[in-house]
Amino acid sequence: MAKPKTSTHPLTLFGIDHLIGEEDRAMRDTVRRFVQDRIQPEIADWYEAGSVPVRELAPELGNLGVLGMHLEGYGCAGTSATAYGLACLELEAGDSGLRSLVSVQGSLAMFAIWQHGSEEQKQEWLPRMAAGEAIGCFGLTEPDFGSNPAGMRTRATRSGEDWVLTGNKLWITNGSVADVAVVWAQTDEGVRGFVVPTDTPGFSAPEIIKKLSLRASVTSELVLDNVRLPDSAMLPKATGLSGPLSCLNEARFGIVFGSLGAARDCLETAIQYAEEREIFDKPLAAYQLTQAKLADMSLELGKGMLLALHLGRLKDEGKLSTDQVSLGKLNNVREAIAIAREARTILGAAGITLEYPLMRHANNLESVLTYEGTSEVHQLVIGQALTGQSAFR
Ligand SMILES: Cc1cc2nc3c(=O)[nH]c(=O)nc-3n(C[C@H](O)[C@H](O)[C@H](O)COP(=O)(O)OP(=O)(O)OC[C@H]3O[C@@H](n4cnc5c(N)ncnc54)[C@H](O)[C@@H]3O)c2cc1C
Repeated sequence: MAKPKTSTHPLTLFGIDHLIGEEDRAMRDTVRRFVQDRIQPEIADWYEAGSVPVRELAPELGNLGVLGMHLEGYGCAGTSATAYGLACLELEAGDSGLRSLVSVQGSLAMFAIWQHGSEEQKQEWLPRMAAGEAIGCFGLTEPDFGSNPAGMRTRATRSGEDWVLTGNKLWITNGSVADVAVVWAQTDEGVRGFVVPTDTPGFSAPEIIKKLSLRASVTSELVLDNVRLPDSAMLPKATGLSGPLSCLNEARFGIVFGSLGAARDCLETAIQYAEEREIFDKPLAAYQLTQAKLADMSLELGKGMLLALHLGRLKDEGKLSTDQVSLGKLNNVREAIAIAREARTILGAAGITLEYPLMRHANNLESVLTYEGTSEVHQLVIGQALTGQSAFR
C-alpha cells in the first residue's frame, strides 16, 4: 500500500487564514483555546445532564471579552463584525448551546438595549452584561406566534405613569437564569420593547425540560402576570416590529459563522476517526467512498466559510442587507447539519454516542435550523428578494 502523505486541514486547503487579519486570528485562537480547555472536557456531561452552569460560565465569557464584543462602549470590546463571527464559530465548535448563550446575551439582549435603549438603561445594564455579571434574555416568540411575531398577544397597557405587561413567551434562551428580560409586547402604538428585571413581581420563567436538542442551553417560558413597570422601562428608540427584527438580524449573522464551527468539529472528528479506524485491513480514510464524503463535506465547509467572511466584510463596511444575512443563515446551517449527519456515518455506531460530538452537534443544529428564522422563512425572504413577491401569506 502506498504510504499516506501528510493530511491537510479542509480550511487550510481553502486558504481561509489568508482572508483573516492577524488581530482577528489572534482573537479567534484565544476563543479556540478557551473552548478546548474549559468547554470540551465538560460538554458531553452537561449535554447528557441537560444542565449547564450558565452563572459560572458567564463571568468567564465576560473575561474572555465575547459578551457584546462587537458593540462600542459600556465595557464592550468594540471588535469588527468579522471578529465577532469568528468567535461565534469557535464557541459553536464547542457546542451550539454555548454560542446561543453568547448570541442571546450579546446580539439579542445587549444589542436591543445598546441600539434602542435610553442612556440610563445602557448604563444600568450593559457594563454588567458585558462582564457576565448580569445575564439577559430576549422574549419575542409566543406559544402561537413564532415565525409570525406580528401576531403576538403579550400586551403592555398604561396604568397611570406605569406600564402593565401580561402574556406568555415561549422557547426563550437563558430565560430562567436571566437577571433581565427584553420583552416585546403589543401596545396602542404598536409593538414596543421593555427592559424587565426578572425579580419584578408577576414575572416567572419556568424552564423547558425534556429537550433533545440544545441540551447544554437553558430554554424557558416567560410568564408575565400583571408585571408593573415604570415608564422608563420601555425601550425609547424601538417602535414597531423593526425593533426586534433588527436584533434578530445581529444574532443571525453570528449563526452564519457559528454553525460552521459545529460543522468543522464534525468534519475534523470524522477525518481523524477515518485515519485511525482499520476496516478490511486498511484505514477507513483510504477508501474512495470515504474520501468522496470527506471531499464533499470539505467543499461545503469551505464555501460556507467564504460566504461567511464575505458577509462579515460587508457588515464591517456597513453594507450588509437583511436579505444577505438570510442567504448566509439558510445556506450555512443547512450545510452544517448535512455535514454533521454525513460525518456521523463515518463513525458508524461510535458516532451515536456522546464520546464523539457528532450527534450532539447534529441534534443542536436542529434548533439552529429553526430559531432566528426557520429555513423556510429564509427561503421566503430570498424568494421575495428574487421575485419582488411576498409569499409569506
Ligand atoms: C432551543 C430554542 C431556543 C430559542 N430561543 C429563543 C429566544 O431566545 N427568544 C425567542 O424569542 N425565541 C426563541 N426561540 C423560538 C424560535 O425563534 C421559534 O421556534 C421560531 O421562530 C419558529 O417558530 P415556531 O417554533 O413557533 O414554529 P412555527 O412558526 O409554528 O413554524 C412551523 C413550521 O411552519 C413553517 N412556516 C412558517 N411560516 C411559513 C410560511 N409562511 N410558509 C411556509 N411555511 C411556513 C416554519 O418554517 C416551520 O417549518 C427558540 C427556539 C428554540 C428551539
